[in-house]
Amino acid sequence: MSDKLNIVTIDGPSGVGKSTVSRLLAQRLGYTYLDTGAMYRAVALACREADIDPSDERAVAALLKKFSLNLEPPDQVDADVRVFLNSREITPFLRTPEIAMTASKVSALPVVREKLTQLQRQIGQHGEIVAEGRDTGTVVFPNASWKFYLDASPEERARRRTEQLEQKGMKVDLAAILQQIIKRDRNDSTRSLAPLKPADDAVIVDSSRMSAEDVVKVILSHITHSK
Ligand code: C5P
Repeated sequence: MSDKLNIVTIDGPSGVGKSTVSRLLAQRLGYTYLDTGAMYRAVALACREADIDPSDERAVAALLKKFSLNLEPPDQVDADVRVFLNSREITPFLRTPEIAMTASKVSALPVVREKLTQLQRQIGQHGEIVAEGRDTGTVVFPNASWKFYLDASPEERARRRTEQLEQKGMKVDLAAILQQIIKRDRNDSTRSLAPLKPADDAVIVDSSRMSAEDVVKVILSHITHSK
């Protein structure tokens, strides 16, 4: 496999099912699951806790100087990756619509992207990971062996996200989630740095009418064929 690393990248817009698919894939392949979105969410939470405007690059840069982030595998395969901010576990606070919107704002800042990209490459330096996010195939791991881009209509993604949040006991409104998804898509794909887009060598999978299991099957078949 020449200079390529044993890394699978799964990029795509919010609510497309990347997390479920990436977790299942990591389990099947015996790889580590790297949730890069959780890292942007951690910076968002830190900003909110310190009452910092997520578009104030100087203030965010100062915050990042005192910022240490650790990820640990979850206890159960279908649970979220455990995230520790300066040694304090923040996992339960990351999956809210407010944190998602702040993450989308803060993720446009070069200082944040540089810091997190460096950390993600460090985690992936020995390969054997499934990395999930917006730019893992285009920017973070351009030499990944297998790149995938998941897509689905905004309506289907809003429906799935609503279901997911309701399962976590949150009360959510489908129309509001759809609006947030459209806004986040716009933020994520129009920013100048590492915009959301498929890598030139990514396989695009439209998951609108597919279950997570079916998507995993399609991805695994691409991987086994090219091994
Ligand atoms: O994937 P998730 O919804 O957890 O990501 C939250 C936000 O973090 C996204 O809307 C996006 O703005 C940002 N993000 C990013 N690059 C990544 C992963 C996430 O900019 N690789």
